[in-house]
Amino acid sequence: MSVIMITHDLGVIARMCDRAGVMYAGEIAERGSLEAVFDRSVHPYTEGLLGSIPDPDDPAPRLQPIEGNVPGLLDSEIGNRCYFADRCPKAMDECVAAKPAGVDREGSAEHRVRCVLAEREYDPARALSAGEEDREREASADD
Ligand code: SF4
Repeated sequence: MSVIMITHDLGVIARMCDRAGVMYAGEIAERGSLEAVFDRSVHPYTEGLLGSIPDPDDPAPRLQPIEGNVPGLLDSEIGNRCYFADRCPKAMDECVAAKPAGVDREGSAEHRVRCVLAEREYDPARALSAGEEDREREASADD
């Protein structure tokens, strides 16, 4: 018998489940065994969720929120890019050039991630925010 639990409480998932799937904006962003998702997470949304869990042994003054809001799925442009790009601290040019495909991170369905970081390292030189600064510099140079 299988049971599917839907919850925001990752502690419940850690205690009760063998496998986990992290959903964002109606699709699975990352899924796999508990060890894969909790210990070897790749998707920045998964990392954000895991990073927002209070640690009673080391209480930080404030929890770190994931900035921004879930995108409007009726936006005609949203289907052609990563849904998390507007909130992602690691968003790069390629994240908004096309929708990332799901990638089997460990060569099987053991750990599947819908993120460009499943296949390459984060490159700050390609960060969307870096591009924005360049565009602002170019715009002010034109003035
Ligand atoms: S595809 Fe890009 S924007 Fe989307 S979660 Fe991965 S790094 Fe962030």
